[in-house]
Amino acid sequence: MDKKGVDILTLDVNKLIDMLNAALSEEWLAYYQYWIGAQLVEGPMRAEIEAELMEHATEELQHADRVAKRIIELDGTPVLNPSEWTKLSRCKYEAPSDPYVETVLDQNIRGERCAIQRYQEIAAYTDGKDYVTHTMATEILADEVEHEKDLNDFVVDINRLKKALKG
Ligand code: FE
Ligand code: FE
Ligand code: MG
Repeated sequence: MDKKGVDILTLDVNKLIDMLNAALSEEWLAYYQYWIGAQLVEGPMRAEIEAELMEHATEELQHADRVAKRIIELDGTPVLNPSEWTKLSRCKYEAPSDPYVETVLDQNIRGERCAIQRYQEIAAYTDGKDYVTHTMATEILADEVEHEKDLNDFVVDINRLKKALKG
């Protein structure tokens, strides 16, 4: 079907769909990294950190939902097989093989920085050319910036605690 909503776009739609499928793969990997991290995490402030990790997992899944729906609107096919996720993702999946809070937080901070870079690029590519994707990318970008801050706040507090304990 010819869609006015696709015709109006003054950019390479296939290139945009590739960027969105990479973002979709990264969201699913981020979801699992947060979710499995929340199951395993141990150390100071465990309950609070576990709750934050689980909240972020839910938010990554919501991002995946928005990105997949936009790919379909653009007449693209969202990545169909989980085996593609690690191939399409630019962000590294970091298994929480050491479940200590500091390690898990650092791993997820690196993931957030990668996500921030991704949505910055999608927002820049679509700026003035695809307002719908642009709006979505800037909204998700704001969430990823908040995620990075939330995790960083825990790192700051843990460092203060360590310093206080040293006397
Ligand atoms: Fe996300
Ligand atoms: Fe995030
Ligand atoms: Mg949060």
